[in-house]
Amino acid sequence: MPLVRSKDRKVTNAVNKSGTQASIANAFGLPSGKAFSCPGATSVCETICYAGRLEKVFKGIRDVITSNYEQLTSVGLFGKIDLLDEMITDFVADCEKRGAEKLFRIHWDGDFFDEEYVIAWRTVIFKHKDVQFWVYTRSDFAVPLLINIPNLALYFSADSANKELAWQLKKQYGIKLAYLAKDFATGKKDFNEQQEKSAVPCPENNKKIPMISTAGSACVVCSQCVFARNDILFSATKK
Ligand code: SF4
Repeated sequence: MPLVRSKDRKVTNAVNKSGTQASIANAFGLPSGKAFSCPGATSVCETICYAGRLEKVFKGIRDVITSNYEQLTSVGLFGKIDLLDEMITDFVADCEKRGAEKLFRIHWDGDFFDEEYVIAWRTVIFKHKDVQFWVYTRSDFAVPLLINIPNLALYFSADSANKELAWQLKKQYGIKLAYLAKDFATGKKDFNEQQEKSAVPCPENNKKIPMISTAGSACVVCSQCVFARNDILFSATKK
């Protein structure tokens, strides 16, 4: 059984004519939480995980991501590579059929659960050089394996519970940070304690641009994270 991609309105690379729905599934999800794919989950992200809430509410979503997780955890490295490669090959064919830019969001839900899984993604990202991938992770072991791949925008997700680790990784690898605070002012203050250059507030989270419109999904219109242009701030309260 193949892995199943998800349609995510905020990140899709192709919207329908009315600008309301994703017409290409360009995201991949796994069940979240420490018990599943998020070994680096923090006390902060576990309380507000938006994707994790969707899993609980929609059985169809839960079934898809659970099946993805079960398939990936029941095979070894080469099995994982084959599953991911098949999914991305299918995605590329979808994009070519519709003339869409090849932009793929890894983990709209969930995270890198072990090193073997990271290596499988690394192999597939290198193979599909015509696809631009982006991902946020709290799994610190993934950073040295995925940093500086030309077609991958890699972010370490930070909050008040893991910020020391985040700054250490930034110092060591130069990784971009996606920093979640209770509000933008707090995030800005936390950030400026560490570096002069501020992080960019996510314009969708900050209600400056819509999640989806005829112009495209928020992430494609903004494209900050898609190409790892800057450190990004998110606010749990959207204020
Ligand atoms: S900053 Fe831009 S690309 Fe990043 S999550 Fe927000 S809308 Fe998407």
